[in-house]
Amino acid sequence: MRARTVAAGLVVLGVVGSIGIVFAQKGLPWPAGASSQAAAPPPAAAPAPTTTATAEPRQVVRPASPVSDAIVVAQAGGMPRASAPAPAPAAAPAPSGPPMPPASVAKGPACTNPNALGVSRVVEIDTTGGPGFGFEHFKQFDFLKPGEVVLTFDDGPWLGNTPAVLKALEQECVKAVFFSIGKHATYYPDILRQVYEGGHSVGSHTWSHVDLSKKKPDEQKEEIEKGISAVKAAIGHPIVPFFRFPQLKHPAEAVAYLGDRNIAIFSTDLDSFDFKIRKPEQIVAKVMEKLKKYGKGIVLMHDFQHGTSLAVPQLLAELKQGGYKVVHMVARTGLDSQPQYDAMVAKTEKLPTAGAGRPINSVVRTVE
Ligand SMILES: [Zn+2]
Repeated sequence: MRARTVAAGLVVLGVVGSIGIVFAQKGLPWPAGASSQAAAPPPAAAPAPTTTATAEPRQVVRPASPVSDAIVVAQAGGMPRASAPAPAPAAAPAPSGPPMPPASVAKGPACTNPNALGVSRVVEIDTTGGPGFGFEHFKQFDFLKPGEVVLTFDDGPWLGNTPAVLKALEQECVKAVFFSIGKHATYYPDILRQVYEGGHSVGSHTWSHVDLSKKKPDEQKEEIEKGISAVKAAIGHPIVPFFRFPQLKHPAEAVAYLGDRNIAIFSTDLDSFDFKIRKPEQIVAKVMEKLKKYGKGIVLMHDFQHGTSLAVPQLLAELKQGGYKVVHMVARTGLDSQPQYDAMVAKTEKLPTAGAGRPINSVVRTVE
């Protein structure tokens, strides 16, 4: 009886998808406290993409009683493996079936710090139907245990700040989710490549960081797809099918579109407001204060922000001291881009190349 109920529940959860998300985002009057900055202007020169890294498949462990069919708990420190959706039987079989798109998270470097904070567990998300995460807007999947934290970074890649965040994460053997802006990925593809090679989940955050609630559906689609194309072009792999809306504005049409594309939507549990606070010590204090209040959560920060890049080492130290555990969210399968948007991004990239290799001070000089 119980097994049948669980199986039926899984089926319901599996089909709720974007419909549930639309209701959730309409029904919850949370303040839109996300970052407000638009995509930054291009730098003087965009570095060329680097060579391909190898991603290794790995075993996934299914718990006896999963939180939902969208989430599978995997062993810490490893990789997601492609597997077919389960047909919701009474007793879940081992994952098997036809080959799926390549794994979308690289293995990352070996941990060399014996006292590192580390990743306590990896959760694999089945993004079918576009499940939503982050209690500010989506309350269906409460999968974190007390003391567990997911670190997410938006608006990169960016010169200096993103590499500093990566270095801090690597020193503590911690993995995070990055929501990259498409334009920024075209400016700094080698930096986004480092994010990917670090073993982090690389999702997308639109092409130019516009408020999609002010755009028509076809414009929303173009922003979403060009963002995916640009991020994929930078890392040279299918990306992780995770998406975060700029300013956490969730227009219903775009939410439905992401559901059709089987892309998970991320809001947040704990907004650091690092783009407003900026001072590293205050960013750390804000995150720790909210963690103490809520006990767990998906933390929203920005690798684009210099203050955040300075704050992450201390934040990780305080998380470790406070006994918090870092959970890494990965996806069951990768997300591929669509050729017509790849072409649009490629065309955009070609536009600024005339003289793009020149240093800025050879082009612009203060004369008075
Ligand atoms: Zn943003």
